Amino acid sequence: MVRVRFAPSPTGHLHIGGARTALFNFLYARHNNGKFIIRIEDTDRTRSTEEYIEAIIEGMKWLKLDWDEGPFRQTDRFDVYRNYVNKLVSEGKVYYCYCSPEELEQRRKDALAQGKPQKYDGRCRNKERVQGSEGSRVQAAIRFKMPQEGQTIVDDMIRGKVIFENEQLDDLIIMRSDGSPTYNFTVVVDDVDMKITHVIRGDDHLNNTPKQIHIYKALGYEIPKFAHLPMILGSDKARLSKRHGATSVMAYKEMGYLPDALINYLVRFGWSYGDKEIFTREELIKYFSFENVGKSSAVFNPEKLLWLNSQYIIKSDPKELAEFVMPFLENADIIHKGQAIDMEWLSKAIKTLQERAKTLIELANSLRYYITENVQYDEKAKAKFLNEKSRDILIELKNHIESLTDFSAPELEKIFQSIVEKHNLKLGPLAQPVRVAMTGGTESPGIFEVLEIIGKEKTLKRLDRAIKTIEPNL
Ligand code: GLU
Repeated sequence: MVRVRFAPSPTGHLHIGGARTALFNFLYARHNNGKFIIRIEDTDRTRSTEEYIEAIIEGMKWLKLDWDEGPFRQTDRFDVYRNYVNKLVSEGKVYYCYCSPEELEQRRKDALAQGKPQKYDGRCRNKERVQGSEGSRVQAAIRFKMPQEGQTIVDDMIRGKVIFENEQLDDLIIMRSDGSPTYNFTVVVDDVDMKITHVIRGDDHLNNTPKQIHIYKALGYEIPKFAHLPMILGSDKARLSKRHGATSVMAYKEMGYLPDALINYLVRFGWSYGDKEIFTREELIKYFSFENVGKSSAVFNPEKLLWLNSQYIIKSDPKELAEFVMPFLENADIIHKGQAIDMEWLSKAIKTLQERAKTLIELANSLRYYITENVQYDEKAKAKFLNEKSRDILIELKNHIESLTDFSAPELEKIFQSIVEKHNLKLGPLAQPVRVAMTGGTESPGIFEVLEIIGKEKTLKRLDRAIKTIEPNL
């Protein structure tokens, strides 16, 4: 059974790169009917916060990357790490190191000055355990005995065989003198304990993998399969970071992106399936495999994401968009907080606009004239269309509409047709002034649909206001 995990360190929000890692784990688990686990790697207590843990979970939920087990927290598992350390101590696979941070720092500087590798020189490897004055044990860090010669091969599902020289590997500290365990150790212990079969993570961790492989071996456990995902880059080909623009997943939510659009965009960082660009979630789960994941990194392209988002808005169910757009209507002060709105009606309005909006912010703004009472006339549009020339025809339309019982787009079309035919006009000289009266501007979806959605009562009010704008005394 495939068991994979997403193991974020809660030292920041869920970012684009982390979400892509989570997504690949999720898809691999779902494709193989396996399990997807979340593990919060919060052992760095100075940088981890509760707020970031919540933010990461919130991001995962928004992206609908649902998990089967967890979120586990490493800070709840110190006893587990301690047990594994004790096992390694009793087997002589680790040793106590008494070098002080100052000494280590000095030696590191000296090595740097002499152009030597800056790894621990192993001087405590063969020391006896030091006893304190009253028989107590002197505090010491615990280092892992790395092999000093030979090679370690990481057989990666994406990169193939990657060879590391063991003499480059440091005798890393697995437990600090204060008893706190370190990353390379906890990650292996947890992956063993949680029966992880495939470790899928960013390739910034590739250099850690040979060290981790030796820890697996020392603990006597089978080594999982590894897949190191290529980095996501910014426009200048440097690793994607804040200076390239928004990198937090929730910032995209706030900018009016749909979670499925972001998912679809993220999956293409590394994975492809022929020339296909747009996938449903079911298709992603069905087609996903590491055979189609490439090793080259790709540049984050906000325009492409925006295009995908517009495609998703076009093909979304208007009812679903109605739910998504509500907070944006509030933010834009189009409705007030908690204002009830007829969702059936809102989805009908959205249906007329979804072809044109690239984000939910645009969609909310385009809904403004459907919802607000007092539309703002665009000055130019008003001057051009709400004037003497249109006054009588607007009055005529208003009279017809007053007696209309079936206020529907087809019936409205009949009325418009009969009026323009009578005056031997094209539709524009009637439709445009009405459009300005209803929306404030000269562009909108089909005018009959717009009227139907605005409804009879409001349509009459708006026509009346337009007529009074032309001639205040009427
Ligand atoms: N906690 C690590 C990180 O956030 C990931 C560790 C792993 O996936 O092995 O970069």
